[in-house]
Amino acid sequence: MKKVKLLALAGLIFPVTQAYAQYETGWDMSEPGIHRISEHVYRWGGGAMGGINGLFVPTPEGIIVIDGPGNPCTPESGQWFRDELEQRYDVPVRYVVLSHDHQSHICGTTVFADTAVAIGSKKLRPHLIREGRIAPIPTVSFDGSLDIDLGGVKVVLHYLGPTHSDNLIVTHIPQDGVLFVPDLSRPHGQLPNPDFRDMDVDNTIEVLGILSRMDDVDIVMPGHNSPVADQSYFRRYRDYLATLRERVLEHMVAGRTLEEILGHVTMSDFDDYANLQQVIEPNVITMYDYLYRYREPNSPGGLPIRATE
Ligand SMILES: [Zn+2]
Repeated sequence: MKKVKLLALAGLIFPVTQAYAQYETGWDMSEPGIHRISEHVYRWGGGAMGGINGLFVPTPEGIIVIDGPGNPCTPESGQWFRDELEQRYDVPVRYVVLSHDHQSHICGTTVFADTAVAIGSKKLRPHLIREGRIAPIPTVSFDGSLDIDLGGVKVVLHYLGPTHSDNLIVTHIPQDGVLFVPDLSRPHGQLPNPDFRDMDVDNTIEVLGILSRMDDVDIVMPGHNSPVADQSYFRRYRDYLATLRERVLEHMVAGRTLEEILGHVTMSDFDDYANLQQVIEPNVITMYDYLYRYREPNSPGGLPIRATE
């Protein structure tokens, strides 16, 4: 494992609360590495790991792993991570938390199957089986919230309904003020979702509000290869998503085609997002698709457009 250099000005580039000044919150994302981000929580990611971040929480009674380093994704993808944990600690991984079913975030977690209980939302299992994900099938699943109490650390898992996928959960370590929210946060002024393919947009807008107001959160850990964020990210992304929804809907109600809407909805007032130009077309197309399934327009004669009712 190569040691990763801290960015010299990390504390200035990525402002964090004073409590985190002693830990690593900015790092060289080009190389794989493990970094302590709070008293009890470590982050791994970087280099060839597909731009993925995950967490682990070592305790005297065992280790809790949240997500797996799965790029390239093979059954052995997580072996380096297991080797690294075995070098550092003399306790096994007791729990593997799967944030959601997307392959790149959970691949490689099978290497802990001999010692760990896998945990995910109740909605996770059919996706893992149908898509043949390289991840353990959870033996513990939940709806709502689930606490893991291990070795003096409480890790709280929340399922807040369908958002980015129908099975995303967020991981909160309240005593450390750490919140892990893969794929609904991404710092550096980046929009987190290339498209809304499997997203429930309306509930995501609600959940972004909940996450922005959650207590005991000092730093937000995104799911991709990036330094920490904070809750202001959720407020800004909620504003973008709600605004995009309203604009696309307004044009649809006015009877415009998708091609016309793509020309109208540029979201240029959000051009501080560095990747806006890369994602705006798929964002509009998949928002249109979402809203197409949301509403029934009138035909010119006032009758439904559908051929049959
Ligand atoms: Zn995802």
